[in-house]
Amino acid sequence: MAFPARCPITHLPTHAAGALQAEIWAATPFIKTPFCAACGMPLEAQAMPFAKCGACEIDPHRVERIRSACAYQGVARDITLAMKHGGDRNLARIGAVWMRAAGEDLLAEADFLAPTPLHWSRLAARGYNQAQWLATALGRLSGKPVRADLLIRRRRTPSQGGLSRLGRQRNVAGAFAVTDRRAIAGRRVLLVDDVLTTGATLDACALTLLRAGAIGVDAITLARVVRPEIATI
Ligand SMILES: [Zn+2]
Repeated sequence: MAFPARCPITHLPTHAAGALQAEIWAATPFIKTPFCAACGMPLEAQAMPFAKCGACEIDPHRVERIRSACAYQGVARDITLAMKHGGDRNLARIGAVWMRAAGEDLLAEADFLAPTPLHWSRLAARGYNQAQWLATALGRLSGKPVRADLLIRRRRTPSQGGLSRLGRQRNVAGAFAVTDRRAIAGRRVLLVDDVLTTGATLDACALTLLRAGAIGVDAITLARVVRPEIATI
């Protein structure tokens, strides 16, 4: 008998290699309908189909549609942090299954997937980009091409922790660039990231892609902060 399979979160025995314990899966705060047709924020139960949240009505995102698999809390927060700081790639495979379910329509319409890029110096220090892991896993599940080379972060930005949406927008303004406009022009791009906080990073990426001629930019994240005003990540 080989080593027993263990849950990547609790490290307790589970039924298959890399599988989450049933209790963990049951406790994961998946986002369900109704949610904002634009940013994916959960809405009150009586919201009409295709309704948007107040924030999107007032100040729309550059990203056309954002979908997230889970709220950034509890187990979903544990998984996201374990992937980001613990380097557990198996969690990206689990997360990608949830993301595919949350964003099937966006995936179907996308010409290619693009992970939110890290600055080369941060990538060198960490050794991996968890957004790229998620994009690669999602590409395998959906059959869509993954282009991690087209969008780059040309400026290293300070941590976004504790900043407001406006502060985050200023922080990432002009931080991204494209490497090949011809590969982007006329295409619909699906950005992939681990956590959505205010959407400032995704919007800065989207603006860069749209200026390069993309016909539309959507985004899919593993988790999203449901109350951005209390975010400290
Ligand atoms: Zn919204």
